[in-house]
Amino acid sequence: MHDEPEVAVLRLGHRPGRDGRMTSHVGLTARALGADRVILGDNATGSAETIRDITDRFGGPFDVEVTSELKRVLRDWEGAVAHLTMYGLPVQDVQAEIRESHREEPLLVVVGAEKVSFDVYERADWNVGVTNQPHSEVAGLAVFLDRLFDGRELDREWEDAESVVVPQATGKKVESPE
Ligand code: SAM
Repeated sequence: MHDEPEVAVLRLGHRPGRDGRMTSHVGLTARALGADRVILGDNATGSAETIRDITDRFGGPFDVEVTSELKRVLRDWEGAVAHLTMYGLPVQDVQAEIRESHREEPLLVVVGAEKVSFDVYERADWNVGVTNQPHSEVAGLAVFLDRLFDGRELDREWEDAESVVVPQATGKKVESPE
């Protein structure tokens, strides 16, 4: 978020057709819950387009990057790496250390789709489990970001939005700022 070291989300292992909606939701969740950027494989251009459209309509800043070299991004990342996996250390046990690191340097959060290769586990500074039960990269990412930002992301301000939702107890209200 503003004035803090960058948080980028790397989506590994997109399977076209099967993972399209999931990859879009990884990006939308990254955006909504305080990350600065999502990095997708170049076979996920449809998801990239969806996330960019939402950012154009509902505001940013948020960047969507597409690359043919996801593993290179991971290898060359200048900062810390947290890999979300059901096999990792419980998020509640490592969140303090990760927050402290993020005060000083950028954080890359890695989520998978299919089986993640072992070199990713070795490259990560933390392999983090959001429970040690199998579930979803979208759910894992949401809980992880909320723990990282300690809820501050819920009050984030958005810039350059075409549409702004006005919260209602009942019903839907959307305004277009002047
Ligand atoms: N079976 C795959 C494996 O062994 O690596 C993982 C498939 S899972 C549907 C897809 C992604 O969801 C994982 O790569 C991981 O990033 C995330 N995920 C699933 N369960 C998780 C958990 N309990 N904690 C953190 N991340 C999780």
